[in-house]
Amino acid sequence: MTRPVFRFAPSPNGQLHLGHALSALLNRDLARAAGGRFLVRIEDIDPGRSKRGFEAQIFDDLAWLGIDWEKPVRRQSEHLHEHRLALDFLNRRGVLYPCFCTRGDIRAASSAGPKDPDGAPIYPGTCRHLTAAERAQRISRNEPYVLRLDMARALSFLRTPLVWTESGDGETEQEVEADPGAWGDVVLARRDVATSYHLAVTVDDAAQGVTHVVRGKDLYHATSVHRLLQEMLDLRAPVYRHHRIILGKDGKKLSKSDGAESLRVMRGTGMAPADIRRLLKL
Ligand code: GLU
Repeated sequence: MTRPVFRFAPSPNGQLHLGHALSALLNRDLARAAGGRFLVRIEDIDPGRSKRGFEAQIFDDLAWLGIDWEKPVRRQSEHLHEHRLALDFLNRRGVLYPCFCTRGDIRAASSAGPKDPDGAPIYPGTCRHLTAAERAQRISRNEPYVLRLDMARALSFLRTPLVWTESGDGETEQEVEADPGAWGDVVLARRDVATSYHLAVTVDDAAQGVTHVVRGKDLYHATSVHRLLQEMLDLRAPVYRHHRIILGKDGKKLSKSDGAESLRVMRGTGMAPADIRRLLKL
């Protein structure tokens, strides 16, 4: 039997906060309990926001929490060729199309329309209807574009209902029906970098042999897209566990820019790792 593989996958675009501490500690604790491996993956595909300085602080905070992880660490930005291969594969299956719409075009065309599970307007599909000649012509004119998944076409390949195994906050596992259609034609390759969160996380989890994805509930609905991509790319599905979200004093989800709950600030006030565990009720 292969050992279970867990991972904590922060984006190096700010300070780690209490929510990250919960994710990292839970992953490490669960890996330990299962006799499994624990990996840290740096999700640095966003060229504008990812900083090596934040990455160093992430490692420092994790070590301070008493967490140990396997080295070398995988950085997503160093594996863009693998994301490209996945895009090529999807393209050959005919489920990708270039989209030339600007943010403004999309806002104007879809603001009154249906919203995705994150509350953003669903892409109205404008560029899905371009002819092959129009696409080729606009690409040859160097018009910037993203690559979108033709959701309806991708769903037409499914032969059985798409599900995932969810163990939630509790001990029992249940099957959840995935609903990727709720996201519409998601972007799989951005303008500035030829990959996207959905594509990179799916490809990298598979490449690293991740068997258990433990992450915040804010990514629960995104799992539907990841399951669809796994089916399309012929990749094994991990088990998922979407844990509680830590809220700030204002009752809102913590963000990387918040000062008070950042681990760095808490460390500065003299808190010990055991205090963090207690705060997190671990
Ligand atoms: N990189 C993502 C984040 O920092 C987490 C991705 C995941 O765990 O799937 O929010």
